[in-house]
Amino acid sequence: MTFRGTNTYILGRGEVAVMDPGPDDPTHLQAILDATRGETITHILMSHDHHDHSALVPKLKEATGAPLLAFHAPTSALVPDVALQDGDRVEGDTWAVEVIHTPGHTDDHLCFATGDLCLTGDHVMGWATSAIIPPRGNLRAYMDSLDKMAARPWRRFLSAHGDPIEEPARRLEALKASRQAREASILSLLDSGGLTLDDLVAQLYRRLGPGLARAARLNVEAHVIALAEDGRLLREGDRVVRS
Ligand SMILES: [Zn+2]
Repeated sequence: MTFRGTNTYILGRGEVAVMDPGPDDPTHLQAILDATRGETITHILMSHDHHDHSALVPKLKEATGAPLLAFHAPTSALVPDVALQDGDRVEGDTWAVEVIHTPGHTDDHLCFATGDLCLTGDHVMGWATSAIIPPRGNLRAYMDSLDKMAARPWRRFLSAHGDPIEEPARRLEALKASRQAREASILSLLDSGGLTLDDLVAQLYRRLGPGLARAARLNVEAHVIALAEDGRLLREGDRVVRS
């Protein structure tokens, strides 16, 4: 589910920040240390504490002495040295970022903006939509966080997986539209009677690779939770019905 792996970003020159160290992989650690040879890593920024972003944090801290700066949610496995909040500004001599709290993919998710460029982590990716896995993932929060990003003009997004996104506004719109379409499909499937979550998954994902079945089920569940909260459907035992 990480496409070509996790993108790790190095901000600034001389005294630098590393965002999203990545998985606990000695090759990845060495690549970060090689890329910053002759420089000092003074900050470790983290978009959220999923292991493909965060597992290398302890070893990078040990190797550099740099503090971890991240959002501290009650569900966070890693406790940051500096807890960041929405609107905070973090800077070094040659770099500065504004912290944007974007819950949805997870409750602790942060994007880091510098001018009209934004490091969007797993909130906005070009190659896939974000997995919303309850309970840390919340679909309504995710939609609100898409709107929050869409309220500003951006030139480019750099995400944690895959290529840069050169048309951020269009990507944000497409992500929102695909979720709205998914909601509409769920509601229309329920028009002719109640279905179990597994029925819904089978109808919505007709050709699903075996490795993705669990993620698909959790994504559908995230939609069902959101629609139930909106009062548009009800859960009766293991069945989902229109309200
Ligand atoms: Zn993630």
